[in-house]
Amino acid sequence: MTATWQTILAQAITCPQVLCDTLSLDPTFAADLNAACKGFPLRVPQPFVSRMEVGNPTDPLLLQVLPQTIETKAVHHFSADPLQESHHNPTPGLLHKYHGRVLFTLSGACAVNCRYCFRRHFPYEENSVSKTHWQNALAYIQSNSSITEVILSGGDPLIHKDKKLQQLVEDLAALPQLTTLRIHTRLPIVIPDRITDDLTSLLCNTRLHCVCVMHVNHANEIDEAVIAACQKLKQANVTLLNQAVLLKGVNNTLDDQINLSKRLFSAGLLPYYLHLLDPVSGSAHFDTDIKEAKALHAGLLANLPGYLVPRMVKENPYEQSKTPFP
Ligand SMILES: *Cc1c(COP(=O)(O)O)cnc(C)c1O
Ligand code: SF4
Repeated sequence: MTATWQTILAQAITCPQVLCDTLSLDPTFAADLNAACKGFPLRVPQPFVSRMEVGNPTDPLLLQVLPQTIETKAVHHFSADPLQESHHNPTPGLLHKYHGRVLFTLSGACAVNCRYCFRRHFPYEENSVSKTHWQNALAYIQSNSSITEVILSGGDPLIHKDKKLQQLVEDLAALPQLTTLRIHTRLPIVIPDRITDDLTSLLCNTRLHCVCVMHVNHANEIDEAVIAACQKLKQANVTLLNQAVLLKGVNNTLDDQINLSKRLFSAGLLPYYLHLLDPVSGSAHFDTDIKEAKALHAGLLANLPGYLVPRMVKENPYEQSKTPFP
């Protein structure tokens, strides 16, 4: 019998030593990584590990998840809450910063812990949508008729079981003002089996238009299983987009970005955003130089059709939308 997505999730690697053994990396390499794990542990599911190159300590997938001692170094301008999100929090779990759409954090938990994540310092509750928070969020949406789209985010909303998601989607579909349901997720990338038949049928059957924004940073993250998962979503009429983060050592060359866009397209995803790194403490070693980012964007425009060029954006705490860059 094949393992369910929940089993794969539960068996994610959380020990640096085990990860290094799996990839045949020098054990001394793992020895000093534990300090960096404090507060934001290593977590990476097996299907994602299986796409890493054995014996390569600078593999672009490995670097995204491997805790490193360099994270513990304090760096000027890098802070715990760079986006000042506590200012736009009308009710717990809900962020209303931009016109027409709200972002609801269903859970702080993720299937994978990405080292550059700006949520790494958030005091999230584990894996729960409190009924009260959800009811309050629905009430807030109803009292703001300008809201037409709800974005389920996190953490990763697909960490919840299909039954629970079904209930949440039904609650949203019952609000006549809403037209669109958006899901921000990395789960189908790290565990493609997450795209179950129950999930696709629930997305196919709601009256809401469904958009799924994936998170892929490197072409190597997309294998045949990911392509099959995306195909299932496409058949359920879900619009598929991708957001990536520009990360030094992972995807900051022109070749990396061109290959990523082409690979995304072959999986049926269009590049949406390429985020400049949020200055969150512990992630400074991924930061790219502004000039380099500009040149990269110009290179993409010169090499790809417009629909394969992601919008490069920065997130500024007090703006009405993400800020286009350059
Ligand atoms: C990014 C973000 C959104 C979505 O913005 P789009 O430009 O529509 O993708 C919505 N709310 C918050 C708080 C966000 O950070
Ligand atoms: S999946 Fe997204 S929210 Fe979760 S750790 Fe990675 S970047 Fe952060």
